[in-house]
Amino acid sequence: MRGAILYAPGDVRVEDRPDPTILEPADAIIRLSATCICGSDLWPYRGIEPIEGATPMGHEYCGIVEEVGSAVTTIRPGQFVVGSFWASDDTCELCQAGYQSACEHRVLMGTIGTQAEYARIPLADGTLVATPEPPSSDMVPHYLAASDVLGTGWFAAVAAEVGPGKTVAVVGDGAVGLMGVLAAQQLGAERIIAMSRHADRQKLALDFGATDLVTERGDEGVERIKDLTRGLGAHSVIEAVGTQESMLQAIRSCRPGGHVGFVGVTHDAAIGGMDLFMSLVHLHGGPAPVRRFLPEHLQLIENGDIQPGRVFDLTLPLDEAAEGYRALDERRAIKTLLTV
Ligand SMILES: [Zn+2]
Repeated sequence: MRGAILYAPGDVRVEDRPDPTILEPADAIIRLSATCICGSDLWPYRGIEPIEGATPMGHEYCGIVEEVGSAVTTIRPGQFVVGSFWASDDTCELCQAGYQSACEHRVLMGTIGTQAEYARIPLADGTLVATPEPPSSDMVPHYLAASDVLGTGWFAAVAAEVGPGKTVAVVGDGAVGLMGVLAAQQLGAERIIAMSRHADRQKLALDFGATDLVTERGDEGVERIKDLTRGLGAHSVIEAVGTQESMLQAIRSCRPGGHVGFVGVTHDAAIGGMDLFMSLVHLHGGPAPVRRFLPEHLQLIENGDIQPGRVFDLTLPLDEAAEGYRALDERRAIKTLLTV
């Protein structure tokens, strides 16, 4: 099969890789309907996250089940399925509490590499959620978005306790931030302030339900949020970047007693003790338990209530993945879909 491999920073190639096979009785093999490139794939691509030799890339996926292992009981060949970037059993104590991204038996799909024609899915019964029927091809991008960015933005909104009557500020206008806007709208927020300085992303944020736009960043951005909230700050802040500046901006944009949901992968953020102490805010975040939300999200997509696949503004064949990485790295694209 064809699959994307990172050899060194900036050097992604699509090559022939061995077809995956069932390794554990709980595995399934899927044929990808589409795959995509994530903002977090840019960390190793930029050399910020070191790699050890040639590394298969990709952790987002949806597709048709080809084969299942002997212990798989609910997932069947022929089904269209979506799963999260953490494979999880969905039965352990942490999964049952809704934290499948911390499952006692979790497997990181990035170690398998789903920017490929086929993928092995561990713990198939727990990891995968099937639709009643395979969707039409124009619906596939929406389901693919549910594999990561939709659930990640949604978790940030839930962690930030977004709800009716609340003012929500969203730090970050990448795919996850935009999904945070969509989630806030679906969860009934009264006011949604999107922080963005890019016209195409602003437009999508407004389409997804943003009521206000703030173009300033850092301290100026915080001041603008305060201006819009009678000097108090937002009730709920979604942090979807993961840098020092964005974390501080999120904490300082939040009112005392408010909640910050943070899902940007942080590599260098260090929060000073006094910043935390004086903030009086709740902080909750981390790798999103996307699996928690999949049944609800697949239903919302099937109903046509949400169209998260609109974040894909560049579509390329899998063989041109290298150009997809470049476009994302240079911020020429919000998110790249790879057809298989
Ligand atoms: Zn578990």
